[in-house]
Amino acid sequence: MNIKPWVNQPPEDPAARPATPAAAVEHLLAGNGRVRAAAECACDGELYPAALPKQQPFGVVLGCSDARAPLELVFDAAPNQLFVVRVAGNVLGDECLGSIEYALANFQDSVRLLVVMGHTGCGAVAAAVQTYLSPKHAAGIAFSRSLRSVVNHILVAVRSAALSLEQAWGGDVLEDPGMPAALAELAVPLNAAMTAYQLRLELERLDAAARPEVVYCVYDLLSSRVVGPPDLASVALTPAPKDPAELVELGLQFARSAAVTRHLNLIRGPFADAPAPTPS
Ligand SMILES: [Zn+2]
Repeated sequence: MNIKPWVNQPPEDPAARPATPAAAVEHLLAGNGRVRAAAECACDGELYPAALPKQQPFGVVLGCSDARAPLELVFDAAPNQLFVVRVAGNVLGDECLGSIEYALANFQDSVRLLVVMGHTGCGAVAAAVQTYLSPKHAAGIAFSRSLRSVVNHILVAVRSAALSLEQAWGGDVLEDPGMPAALAELAVPLNAAMTAYQLRLELERLDAAARPEVVYCVYDLLSSRVVGPPDLASVALTPAPKDPAELVELGLQFARSAAVTRHLNLIRGPFADAPAPTPS
């Protein structure tokens, strides 16, 4: 069954965005009408004319809730292909891990891959960077336990990103005006890689035969590419790091990538004529 009416959808027209709750309801019902029409056209009235199939996803994907990073569309997947968990910052809270464990326990015959997908321009990561750099400006989340929970999950990756930048470019990088943007750019892939590593550890208690491969990537909102190491420009779904040493090495690779250094004045900015510092 291959029902994908959204593939040929034109880019969203901002002028046509629903302005009221009633218009939003109408918009959603019209969308569902198009899906039904496509199903009727493709398979004579019912999506599954014979019988409702067993749920058989080949992939489990953990991604961010960001409206610009819709997982099924990113991978052009049809119904019943992906088991999707979306949460701000693609953080691995208890409920998300529980959903993934459920999928692995119930669909082990079909699941072959577990994907963690971060994305460029992630607001949750930006909030964690802001909290890390300027805790006094984190008042917006201070009184919300649930918001703090999302940010706290990501802070580990932000700290690690700061250490990687300092290790790659020296202590001066901490004063660079581009540091917040560089941190956010670097924390996204590190957050995805760390989560993939965490999932890999969680899966070690399963039989080797029932263990899907764990991979991670960053979805670039501008180009629609899913990218990864070594330069955050190569299209890839990268296997989860095997140990903490690999995570450290990844942090350094990413810190030296053009995707990250383009934010740093120290390397590319107003002193672009000066030779770039040698990575240390
Ligand atoms: Zn996000």
